[in-house]
Amino acid sequence: MIKRDGLLLVISGPSGAGKGTICKALLEDDRDIKLSVSATTRSPREGEVDGQHYHFVSKDKFKEMIENEEFLEHAQIYDNCYGTPKAKVIENLKNGVDVVLEIEMQGAMQIKKAYPEGIFIFTLPPSLKELKNRIVGRGTETAEEIEKRFSSAFDEINKIKDYDYFVFNNEISNSVKEIKSIITSEKNKVSRYKDNILDKFREEL
Ligand code: 5GP
Repeated sequence: MIKRDGLLLVISGPSGAGKGTICKALLEDDRDIKLSVSATTRSPREGEVDGQHYHFVSKDKFKEMIENEEFLEHAQIYDNCYGTPKAKVIENLKNGVDVVLEIEMQGAMQIKKAYPEGIFIFTLPPSLKELKNRIVGRGTETAEEIEKRFSSAFDEINKIKDYDYFVFNNEISNSVKEIKSIITSEKNKVSRYKDNILDKFREEL
């Protein structure tokens, strides 16, 4: 194995496009990839475990984390704040461990500025109709929130221009297969290895 930094995979896309489902399936398929656990000020939903699904923190604690520059990115979505804790991600990347961030689009663009070597993947719903069905089916949003999210869906899809890759979320096993092939190609990018490839052969001279 030739040494390289871990890949930072940023999986984003419109609300309801299924980025969470895709990430979960990807992580089950490849146990070597680590998911970054975000901090949030929203309350846990049934079945969510602190430290596993999110770090559930108070608004004051979140503010303190911003002030201490503990986040790689953070964003406010409606009334709640979400952020990616920096330390763990940086440590994993330095150790060659690949990391996935499953985050909304404002945050993804902050990461792109700070870490352009990241791989930016946009998840697409099969159709707008399907997107609405998913948001309704989730049952976690009020009717007003659903309308708000649905009416901004097209504008959100328009943001695909800022991404490197897209994946449709229709057949989950297919979406995972496509992301894995993106990962394979990215692992074979010469630019990710600095002089490490040459060094490997130089040792034999
Ligand atoms: P939920 O409250 O349904 O778990 O998440 C709402 C949205 O926040 C989802 O689109 C999710 O991808 C996004 N999200 C989760 N964690 C983070 C984070 O650390 N940063 C940003 N920017 N978005 C996040």
